[in-house]
Amino acid sequence: MFEYQLKLSKKRKTIALKVTDNGVLVYAPQGACIKGVERWLETKTLWVAKQQQRLAKSVQQQIPWNSGKLLVFGNEYAFTCDRVLPSHIDHLQQKVVVHITAKSSTKSIRLALVKLLAAELEQYIDSRLHTLSVQMNSPVESVKFREYKSRWGSCSSHYALTFNVLLAGAPKRMIDYVMVHELAHCHVMAHNRAFWSLVAMYDSNYKEAVSWFKTNGKQLFIAKD
Ligand SMILES: [Zn+2]
Repeated sequence: MFEYQLKLSKKRKTIALKVTDNGVLVYAPQGACIKGVERWLETKTLWVAKQQQRLAKSVQQQIPWNSGKLLVFGNEYAFTCDRVLPSHIDHLQQKVVVHITAKSSTKSIRLALVKLLAAELEQYIDSRLHTLSVQMNSPVESVKFREYKSRWGSCSSHYALTFNVLLAGAPKRMIDYVMVHELAHCHVMAHNRAFWSLVAMYDSNYKEAVSWFKTNGKQLFIAKD
């Protein structure tokens, strides 16, 4: 069953149902049998779900940056807003779903989406970074995730690594390169010959990754408006 607000009125003779931006409204006569109302509502579950989907779709169409598609680990996923389902990424059906309410704005939807991508990236990087850092003998002090506008990662002089959450759109092989790149910075800060030969030791095809980001990097960014 769906959630609804019950509005009782003395003047009313019949039950009515309305799906609005502020939720499902049920109008019933004062003194109506609530169990009877609920039984009737149960027969309307499918109809309500359809109306909610229609509303979510109209919100989605108003999102200026949204084309209905999104990259996750290099694969094209469908992007949808939903009034019922919680925000999640479905890898099997290749779908990204963001939960919306009547109060959702373009900004809050974008934020929820970036949060989903961040969690996805964090999980992947967590599964690889430790092994890589041991192999490369790179002393990682901390790992953070944030949205950068023009970089994929960074490494501070205190070995604090930060990764751009939008990397979640890149193929895993490319994310691996960024990890090797930042871990190499734990030894050499500058992008000099010593740095690149260190990168090459752990990613012999790194040039391919560098040119991939040059060509495809832009499409990982999600416009703000
Ligand atoms: Zn660098």
